[in-house]
Amino acid sequence: MTGIAAEPSTPGHATDSPTRGFATRQVQSGYTVGRPWSSAVPPIHQTAAYEFSSLQEAADLFALRKPGIIYSRNASPTQQVLEERVAALEGGTSAVAVASGQAAVAVTLLALAGRGGHIVAADQLYGGTVDLLQETFDDFGIPVTFVDQDDPDAWQAAITPQTRALFAEIVANPIAQVLDVRKVADIAHGAGLPLVVDSTVGTPALIRPGEHGADFVVHSATKFLAGHGTSLGGVVVDQGTFDFGAEPERWPQFTAPYQRFGDLVLWERFGQGQAFAALVRSKYVHDLGPSISPFNAWQILQGIETLDLRVARQSASALAIARHLAQHPSVATVHHPGLEGNPWHDLAGRYLPNGIPSVFSFDVAGPEQDATERISRLVDELSVFRLVANLGDARSLIAHPASMTHSHLTPAQRAAAGISLNTVRLSVGIEDPADLITDLDRALAQI
Ligand SMILES: *Cc1c(COP(=O)(O)O)cnc(C)c1O
Repeated sequence: MTGIAAEPSTPGHATDSPTRGFATRQVQSGYTVGRPWSSAVPPIHQTAAYEFSSLQEAADLFALRKPGIIYSRNASPTQQVLEERVAALEGGTSAVAVASGQAAVAVTLLALAGRGGHIVAADQLYGGTVDLLQETFDDFGIPVTFVDQDDPDAWQAAITPQTRALFAEIVANPIAQVLDVRKVADIAHGAGLPLVVDSTVGTPALIRPGEHGADFVVHSATKFLAGHGTSLGGVVVDQGTFDFGAEPERWPQFTAPYQRFGDLVLWERFGQGQAFAALVRSKYVHDLGPSISPFNAWQILQGIETLDLRVARQSASALAIARHLAQHPSVATVHHPGLEGNPWHDLAGRYLPNGIPSVFSFDVAGPEQDATERISRLVDELSVFRLVANLGDARSLIAHPASMTHSHLTPAQRAAAGISLNTVRLSVGIEDPADLITDLDRALAQI
């Protein structure tokens, strides 16, 4: 591994087999016990840099002639186990882990936009991503057009000759709109463009967007992958499906000589399925520095080992809570696609047969003017649900998007995302579901 280019983890070689089941891959992929100490669990390589055996080796590594790790801004062996493991779970060909989900979205779209590119993104995005795309990307000269993700004509109409990627979340939050990922992927591919999907809320335990046409999958690993609310991290997975060589003049960042490495052309040197990761590491992570610490990579690996167990419990509990709230007199609407009559119920049936993510929301009954006051009382009364701006934790969390995660949005943007002042978001944890329902009932009775 170049610490720049993708390659198998050290020590030894990964023993991945695509025939192994999901639960085996989530515990074992990316790591083979080997020298020097044969630790059964992947070690934390807490070092800033790696020693070269000779100046010749150093020169070869710096020139990308030889694989290996130079410096932890570009990669660490612990990080590489994480990258291979997430790639194995998503069915991808390579992955890059970075410091946060925010960094994963940023480096992915920067790498695809290149110089002069344009992005088309869904209206229904995480608030931090909206900030990134409409302000920082705008500052950088990368225009972003936002569209209603449920409107195929809007996606189509927003594509220009400068467009370089389409971007959406597999299940948005707080309203839990399910993306018709196959439909949007077909629109992207029809225009010769890749589809990037943020699957943070979905997790590969419930859906692998690459199986439905997504070309790149990003995660905030902070959420369900880490799973215990301890560590920030992000990952982008290349599904190996997008051919940047088909229209080389559109993608010079892959197909033209890469200035900093002389005549090297990433597409020739690394090829489909690996060149994207090589660009992200050697340019965007290297230059901007959003590197994941070996310790955080290790914590996320630990979390992933129980991913499907946690997510199954969380999804089942969330559905039970949604059904309970749907008949509660203090609740006006429950936004959970597992419920009959929800606008995304059919899409959930098609794309999420193994369970629906445990992040959903409900609107408290009553007028919007004093909704914030009533929701303050609700969160004060809760004792199992915690008021926390996070999701995918083992703990159950509650949030008021209009005051918290989505407070930077204009009222019009909030409405486009389906959020009102009455909307309360839940992220259901792994506690006893009966305790969670009792907690909500008791608190709702006080408002
Ligand atoms: C949290 C989140 C992010 C950002 O991830 P961080 O790890 O907090 O930087 C991006 N997308 C979604 C859907 C998220 O929930």
